[in-house]
Amino acid sequence: MDRREFLKGSVFAATAGLALDACAPDASQLIPILIPEEPFIPGEEIWTRSTCFECNAACGIQIRKIDGRLVKVEGNPEHPMSRGGLCPRGQAAPQAMYHPDRIRTPLAKQEDGSFAELTWDEALERIANALGSAERMDFAFAFLTGTLTGHRRAIVERFLKAFGSSDHILHEPFSTTTLERASTLATGHERLADPDLENAGYVVSFGAEMLEADISPVRFHHGLAELRQGRPGRRGKFVMIGPRLSLTAANADEWIPTRTGEEIELALGIAHVLIRDGRNAASAIGASEDFEAFRALVEEVEPSATAERLAQEMAEHGPTICLAGGSAVRSGAGLALALAVSHLNALLGKNMVPAEAPPFAPWPALEGPEIEKRALTQALGSEPPNVLFIVDTNPLYSLPPAFEAETWLSSVSLRVSFSTFMDETTAASDLVLPESMSFERFEDAVPAGAPVPMATLAQPLLVRTLYDTRSMPDALLAIAKGTGRADAFPWSSYEAALREAWAGLDTSWSDALARGGFWSAESAGEPGRYRFETAAIRERSHATPGLELHVYASNALGDGRSAHLPFLQELSDPITGIRWGSVAEISADRAGDLGIASGDLVELRSESGAIEARAHVTPGLHPDMVAIAAGQGHTGYGRYSEGRGVNAFALLNPASDADGALLAGTKVTVRKL
Ligand code: SF4
Repeated sequence: MDRREFLKGSVFAATAGLALDACAPDASQLIPILIPEEPFIPGEEIWTRSTCFECNAACGIQIRKIDGRLVKVEGNPEHPMSRGGLCPRGQAAPQAMYHPDRIRTPLAKQEDGSFAELTWDEALERIANALGSAERMDFAFAFLTGTLTGHRRAIVERFLKAFGSSDHILHEPFSTTTLERASTLATGHERLADPDLENAGYVVSFGAEMLEADISPVRFHHGLAELRQGRPGRRGKFVMIGPRLSLTAANADEWIPTRTGEEIELALGIAHVLIRDGRNAASAIGASEDFEAFRALVEEVEPSATAERLAQEMAEHGPTICLAGGSAVRSGAGLALALAVSHLNALLGKNMVPAEAPPFAPWPALEGPEIEKRALTQALGSEPPNVLFIVDTNPLYSLPPAFEAETWLSSVSLRVSFSTFMDETTAASDLVLPESMSFERFEDAVPAGAPVPMATLAQPLLVRTLYDTRSMPDALLAIAKGTGRADAFPWSSYEAALREAWAGLDTSWSDALARGGFWSAESAGEPGRYRFETAAIRERSHATPGLELHVYASNALGDGRSAHLPFLQELSDPITGIRWGSVAEISADRAGDLGIASGDLVELRSESGAIEARAHVTPGLHPDMVAIAAGQGHTGYGRYSEGRGVNAFALLNPASDADGALLAGTKVTVRKL
C-alpha cells in the first residue's frame, strides 16, 4: 500500500467511524422526528393551557408544542394564584414526558421478581378476577393514595363505594391535613383560606416554607413580592420563625431561629401581649366562642422579649397575617400551633374564611358505604386488605423502614400500582398499570388556599399517548365495566365524567379548556362563628433537649417525587449549593464543638438507623438542629435518581400524628467519620 492509498483508507475508516458513532447514540433521538407521534406542520407553534401536577398547588400552565413535541412550559397569566409564574419543578415537568424510564406498557410481577409485559386486557382481567363479580362484596379492598384533588379523588371514592369498600388510606409526607383540621375546629371549614398577603403590612411565618414547598409556593411568591415591593411608599415586613435559614427565611426581613416545637410558645406569647395590651380585635371577625378559655390559657404563658417585640411590630405595621406550616405543624405541637396561629389571626381581626368550593354538577347518586379516610401510618397496625390500588404515593421511599410498611404491603394479595415511573412502591407491586402523563390526559384540580371559587383543567396535548398508557380514572372505568358495575359509572370516558361535572360551572367546556380552568370573580365565603378551640393547645407537647433532625422538602425535588428529572437534579440548591446529592447541614456552633468542617464525611444516627453524608457547616441553622433535605436516596425511580444522596426519611422515628403526618422531633447524634 502506497502513502496515497493509506491516506484514502484512513479517511474512509475515520469517516465511517464517525458516521457509525453518529448513528448509534442518536438513533433514539432521530426516530421521533422521522416517525412523529402525530402529523404536524413543520415550524408551526401551538400553545395549550393546562395544569401543573408536579405538586398539589396546581398552578396554571401553557405549553408550547412545536413539530408535534412539547418543548416549553410557561405560566398561565390568567390563573388567579400562579398568575403566569412557575417554579423550577413546573418548568422541568415536560422532561418527564420524554423520559427514557417511563413505564410504557402494563407489567406483571413474575415469580423471580422481574416484570413481564402484558396487554391492558390481560391486566384488567386479572384485576376483575381479584375483585370478583357484582354479587361478591365480601372482600377487603382499599385505595392507598397521596393527596388527591378534584374529580381524581371523587372517582377513586366512587370506585370504592361501587365495590362496597369505605377504605381510603392516605400517605402524603408533607401533607396539609393538620392545617385543615385546625381550620375545621376553628372556622368549621376544612378548606384552607387564601392569606391575602397583598393587603397585609406584616407577615409572620411560623415554620411555613412559603417559597419552597408550602400550600402554593408560586402564589406566596407573588404575595410576598407585592407585600415588599409592589406598593410604592409602603413596604411591608416579613418575619420567618423556624429552625433553618431556608429560601423563605433568606428572603424574609428577619429570621428568628427556633427549635422545631418552640414556635407555639412564641405564638402564645404574642397572643398574651395582644390581649394584655388591649389590642384584641377579635370582635371584628364577628361572633366567636370560647374566647375566655383561650384568654385564660395564654395568661399562663410568660411572653418572651421577642414575643413582646413582634406584638408591638404587628400593631405598627399591620394589618398582620400569620401562617403556620413546615415541620412546625408536624411536631408534637403541630395541631396546637396551627390553632394558635389561627387564633392569633382572629385576635388581629382576620378571620381566615376560605373561598367557596366550585359549584360542580354532582354525579348521579351512588349507594354504598361512607368513605372513611385513615392515614397509612394508622392502617399499618391493622389487617392489610386483599386488594390494594396504589395511586400518587410512594411510602416505601417516604416512610421510615421502622414503620415496616414493606412487610404490611407484602401481605396484600394483589397490589396494583397506577404509575408513570417505577418508583420504590411500584417496584414492589404485583401489577403495574402505566398512567399517562398529565400532558396526555384529562384531569382537574381544586387548589387549596384559593382566593376565589376555582378549578383548573389539564387536557391531552397530543393526538395519542406516547406509549400504551391510560389515565387512572379511565382504567377504573374499564375495570368497573369488566366487573358488572358499569351502572355506577355511566360515562364513556373520564373526559365525559368531567364534562358532566363541569356543566355546573358558569363556563362552557371549550372556554374552560381554552382558559385552563374556571375561576369566578367572587372572593371568600361568609364568615361563620369562630371558635377559640383550646383542647389541643393545652395538651401540646414541649420541645425536649438534644440534637434534633429537621427534614424539609427540597426546593427542587419536593418530597422526592421530582428526583427522577435530571433538570432538577442539576439545579443547585439555593442555600447549600448541592446538586445530584445530599448534605447534612450542621450549625457552625455545633460543628465547632464536634470538630466538623464543611466537606467532612459524617454519620447521622437515630433510633431508626444511620446515614452518611458530607457536612455543610452553616450559620443559618439553630444549634440544636441538624437539617437534611428530603428527595434523594432513592433505591429506584429511574436512572437519574437511583443511588444518589441519602434518604432523610429513613432516619425519622416511626411516629406520626392522627393525620399520618410524620412527626418532627427525631433525636440524632452526629459523628465525624
Ligand atoms: S408550585 Fe411548582 S410544582 Fe407546584 S404546581 Fe406550581 S409550578 Fe407546579
